[in-house]
Amino acid sequence: MKILIAEDDPLYSKMLESMLVKWGYEVITCSDGFRAWEILTSENAPKFVILDWMMPGMEGIEVCRKVRENIKDTYVYILMLTAKAEVKDIIEGMESGADDYLTKPFNANELKVRLMAGRRILEMQEELISSREALRIMATRDALTGLLNHVAIVDALGRRLVQTTREKTPVGIVMADLDYFKNINDTFGHLVGDAVLRETAKRLQLLARPYDDIGRYGGEEFLVVLPGCNLEDTVNYAKRLRECIQENAVRTNGANIPLTISIGATASVDGKATDVDTIIHTADNALYRAKNNGRNRVEFTTHEES
Ligand code: GH3
Ligand code: MG
Ligand code: MG
Ligand code: MG
Repeated sequence: MKILIAEDDPLYSKMLESMLVKWGYEVITCSDGFRAWEILTSENAPKFVILDWMMPGMEGIEVCRKVRENIKDTYVYILMLTAKAEVKDIIEGMESGADDYLTKPFNANELKVRLMAGRRILEMQEELISSREALRIMATRDALTGLLNHVAIVDALGRRLVQTTREKTPVGIVMADLDYFKNINDTFGHLVGDAVLRETAKRLQLLARPYDDIGRYGGEEFLVVLPGCNLEDTVNYAKRLRECIQENAVRTNGANIPLTISIGATASVDGKATDVDTIIHTADNALYRAKNNGRNRVEFTTHEES
C-alpha cells in the first residue's frame, strides 16, 4: 500500500519514512499542503495520507477539508499528525474530515497499529466498491450474452434520443431477430440454442463501434442503437450483420449450424424529436416486413413514413 507523508519537519519526515518502509509500505513524501493536494489529486494517487497539521502554505486541516469536499469517487484515509494535543484541537481536526489522529511525539507501535486500522478501512471500502460495480453489471447486463438487458438497452436508447435532439445528429436503430430459432432448440437442444445466442451477440459486437449500444431485447431478438448514423449508415450496418450471420455457420459441439437473421432498420434524422416507443415500433414494423417477405433480409423505414 502506498502512503503519502506530508510533513514539513525533515526530522519527523525521515523518521516516518524509514518506519513505514520497514513495515512494508510504499512511501511518497512532501513538505507542504499544496504539494500534498497535488499528489492526492494526481493519477494513481495514494489513498492513505499521514498529514501534519502545521505546514507552510496550506495547513493540514485545510488539505483535509479540500479532500472531503472534492474527492468523491474514491476514499482517502487521513491520519492527522499534530503537535496540538488539546481536546479542542483534536475535535477540530476530526471535524475537518480526518479519520484518526496521533500527537507528536508519538510511539512507533501505536503508529503501526493505527496504520493497520486505516488499512482495514480502505480494504473494506474497496470490497464495497467492487461489489457495487458487480451489482451494477448484474442489473444492466444479460447473463447469457453479456449484452445490455432489455431495461438497459431501452434506457440507453432513451438517452441517445435526448442527445440526438439536442445535438441535431441522427441516430440509427436496428431490430434483429434470428430466423426459425425454435427449430435450433428443437433439433440441437436448448444448450446449443444458448451457444448460438452467445455467438450472435459476439458478431453484433464485432460489427459495431465501441460506443454503439447493443442489447438483448427479448429471447432471440436484439436491439442495436447507432449514434450518429443516418438511415443509410444504419441499413449498411444491418446488411453487414445479415451477411455475417448467414455466411458463417455457428460451430458448436462438432455441429455446423446454419443461421439467418431478419432485420428491421430505421433512423431518426436531423435530430427530429421522437420517443422510444415510436422509434421501436417503427423498427419492429420493418422487422415484421422482413419476416413476412421471406426472412434473411433487411427492411427499413424512415421515421417519417412510419
Ligand atoms: P421466426 O423466424 O418467426 O422468428 O421464428 P422463431 O422460431 O425464431 O421464433 P419463435 O418466437 O417461434 O421462437 C423463439 C424461440 O426462442 C422460442 C424460445 O424457446 C427460444 N428462446 C428464447 N430465449 C431463449 C434462450 O435464452 N435460450 C434458448 N436456447 N432459446 C431461447
Ligand atoms: Mg509541521
Ligand atoms: Mg425468431
Ligand atoms: Mg422473436
